[in-house]
Amino acid sequence: MKTPADSPARVLDAFRAGSRFLITSHVSPDGDAIGSLLGIAHLLRALGKTDITCVLEDAVPRVYTFLDGADAIIAPATVNGAVDVAILVDAHAAERSGGVEPMLRRAKLFIVIDHHLVEKADGMLQFVDPTYAAAGEMVYDLYALAGATLSPGAATCIYTAQTTDTGNYRYSNTNARSHRIAASLIEAGVNVRDVTARVIDTMSRGKYQLLQRVLARIQFLDGGRVAHADVFDKDLSETGALAEDTDGLINYLRNIEGVRLAMVFRETADGKTKVSFRTQPELNAAEICRAFGGGGHAVAAGATLDSGLAEAKETVLTHLRTQAGLDV
Ligand code: AMP
Ligand code: MN
Ligand code: MN
Repeated sequence: MKTPADSPARVLDAFRAGSRFLITSHVSPDGDAIGSLLGIAHLLRALGKTDITCVLEDAVPRVYTFLDGADAIIAPATVNGAVDVAILVDAHAAERSGGVEPMLRRAKLFIVIDHHLVEKADGMLQFVDPTYAAAGEMVYDLYALAGATLSPGAATCIYTAQTTDTGNYRYSNTNARSHRIAASLIEAGVNVRDVTARVIDTMSRGKYQLLQRVLARIQFLDGGRVAHADVFDKDLSETGALAEDTDGLINYLRNIEGVRLAMVFRETADGKTKVSFRTQPELNAAEICRAFGGGGHAVAAGATLDSGLAEAKETVLTHLRTQAGLDV
């Protein structure tokens, strides 16, 4: 697949030339979204910029609130004034930012920095490269290109982006460059045990109770090659789990022996259904999700369908049956 041209040097030139900046990422932000967004803010500050607005549609998940700068991330409604440079990181389409979209469209320069598998990205200037394991690694390379010094706080943001998107350096996207970058980040002052304990190893009581329910609901299809489970909105209210606690549940399905395709169907508060996909290499998750208006990576992708959970599941299973030849 052809991906949009990558041009880190041009992005850095634009960073140097701009004065009023806005940085955002995707809805339901994960560690890479938060870490790379904050990493860019730190880089801009290192370049002498002071007018920087960090904005996200959804609140920062609790586990990432310790990151340096996270407390300054605001909601779209609170943003005022025009910006000259708007940056979307860890997503390729303006609409993935939710309510920030009009601000991206209005900016004099709209830059996309992303590592997803995409054919076409939004933005007037793009640094899109799916060989990066995390958008945070792209931010690291911008730092290196700028010759800017990483503070321990900035390094911790980028390390958090990396460790969450690579599953603590275990997923197939992890490569030698990832480890080289991690080594530099540790040299810059990351406390590996502290970050790992906070973002990888800790489970809230609510998440534990949600996990208990969801694991009991796993169903198998296609002779055990497909595993799927449902998460209903009431599961969150009844267990005290937060929306962010659904992150990572799918790994338990994916890790079951024989499973080649794992799916989690999650009913959202507004009556839509978010489906997450994890696949083995013979199935391209991003391509499957694109059929439903979503996307992602070859082995990890997602989409949000406008229908309720039962109907969305039927739509997805029918697609898999007819288009991917699966016995589901
Ligand atoms: P998730 O299943 O939410 O963990 O997402 C897996 C990957 O797919 C992540 O890299 C997401 O950014 C991406 N992804 C999830 N939902 C969408 C969507 N609606 N559109 C594009 N990419 C998505
Ligand atoms: Mn992300
Ligand atoms: Mn990412």
